[in-house]
Amino acid sequence: MLGLMQDWPLLCHRIIDHAATYHPERRVISRSVEGPFHTTNYFELRRRALKVAQRLDRDGIKLGDRVATLAWNTWRHLEAWYGIMGIGAIYHTVNPRLFPEQIAWIVNHAEDRVMMTDLTFLPILEKLAGQLKPIERYVVLTDAAHMPATALKNAVPYEEWIAEADGDFAWKDFDERTAAGMCYTSGTTGNPKGVLYSHRSNVLHSLMAAQVDAMDVSSRDVVLPVVPMFHANCWGLALTSPMVGATLVMPGGKLDGASIFELLDTYRVSFTAAVPTVWLMLLAHLEANNAKLPYLKKVVIGGSACPRAMTKTFQDVYGVEVCHAWGMTEMSPLGTLGSLKPEYADLTGEERLDIQVKQGHAPFGVEMKIVDDSDNELPRDGKTFGRLKVRGFAVTRSYFKEDDDILDPQGFFDTGDVCTIDPHGYMQITDRAKDVIKSGGEWISSIDLENLAVGHPKVAEAAVIGISHPKWDERPLLVIVLKKDQTATKDEILGFMQGKVAKWWMPDDVVFVAEIPHTATGKIQKMALREQFKDYVLPTAAAAE
Ligand code: ADP
Repeated sequence: MLGLMQDWPLLCHRIIDHAATYHPERRVISRSVEGPFHTTNYFELRRRALKVAQRLDRDGIKLGDRVATLAWNTWRHLEAWYGIMGIGAIYHTVNPRLFPEQIAWIVNHAEDRVMMTDLTFLPILEKLAGQLKPIERYVVLTDAAHMPATALKNAVPYEEWIAEADGDFAWKDFDERTAAGMCYTSGTTGNPKGVLYSHRSNVLHSLMAAQVDAMDVSSRDVVLPVVPMFHANCWGLALTSPMVGATLVMPGGKLDGASIFELLDTYRVSFTAAVPTVWLMLLAHLEANNAKLPYLKKVVIGGSACPRAMTKTFQDVYGVEVCHAWGMTEMSPLGTLGSLKPEYADLTGEERLDIQVKQGHAPFGVEMKIVDDSDNELPRDGKTFGRLKVRGFAVTRSYFKEDDDILDPQGFFDTGDVCTIDPHGYMQITDRAKDVIKSGGEWISSIDLENLAVGHPKVAEAAVIGISHPKWDERPLLVIVLKKDQTATKDEILGFMQGKVAKWWMPDDVVFVAEIPHTATGKIQKMALREQFKDYVLPTAAAAE
């Protein structure tokens, strides 16, 4: 017997309808790409999103067509998302930090028909235009006054383009399992892979993200998503914020410490989220200018491991609660968040930090298990590490245009991460399966060593890679970027780490570099580092031979 409740399809445009009806005046403030701040609200945003939908429809964009966006977080980008989704087309966020050849490959693979772009990216697109075969029209997210001359096919300024629509248009009707959005993983090995979100998965993910033990955002919050819309679905915030009626502050293209501080302070932001590299820049700015964060309550940090020292500084110096989170593009992207369960809620000082360095626990909708190389499930004792597998309503089951079945027989997706899970369900990433250092048949976590090293007051950033060793197979090499105008010796750094990790985990050598390479999403590029140090001979290796 079926239930007798209404069949109310979970469609993303219902989120902006809700925001426009129940939170119409709530503001969406953006740092525009042209420079000045811009303010609108959810009522207006929906009105203009309908024009985007109407205009795309008139251009012949249909259910299932892909529309690329190469853009910073602004009100126009948000309108574009809702307009695209509202006719059953698919927003395809392209990460501008990718190599130009990768951008071309992705656009061709996705067969994007329209490219919506910020002014910032016109030079890249003009260089690539000959290779972007499927693009029929370029919509430049600006007005006529700021539109430069360009030879891009059918290029039109966004404001002119939507002005041609009167907005007398209704969202289209379709199944909630229809694709809504698309995001390619960075593809650190091989070609990038397309992850295809559905309306249903996006709506359920937004409900999940809003929960108090997840992002915990409400209509009382002022939300600053520093995490770009092109990075893993904006961690859900472009949908969750209007869903709960939160004020939105969109940072545009300026993500440096001073610019982010200006937004946090001017607009009294209460909630923000981004990768650790962004917060390194902000903390450096605060320290240099003796600035404070009186309004910010919570910062969600993920995408790569949040160093213990960063959590401590945010909490102890600035009074801002840190929520460590883990996820991946394939998971829409939230997997775990580090809110404190009652078992841990009263902890203080170092004991509290011991829990907060973990990546957190799974909200409803994410199932996790850890397995060994033969796929046997491992105990959740907080000590045993294994490969992390996940299952849920917002987890991918296949990549775009790839027929391979990527799930195991129970329907779990292999994350490629190695972790422990403690008896209270807190997951802690030990490493990417391919980055873990294999020493004498045992595993050493590069992330643990990096976290420890950045706790040294002179260290700005640290990376650990495995270097081949004649006796142990691999041994850790610690690569360090010092803070501005600092000097340090190998012994000073190793002395600091001594006693804080097992003796056999201690790095065999330390090198100081000016810069550590990062991926397009702000992660340390271990592949590039391994390449850079491929001929490096550890002093311990020379001794062992
Ligand atoms: P990319 O940034 O390469 O496009 P994702 O954002 O999907 O791809 O990256 C997901 C991966 O990032 C995870 O599988 C994990 O290895 C890493 N990651 C994400 N959050 C964390 C975290 N809090 N701590 C450690 N690693 C993390």
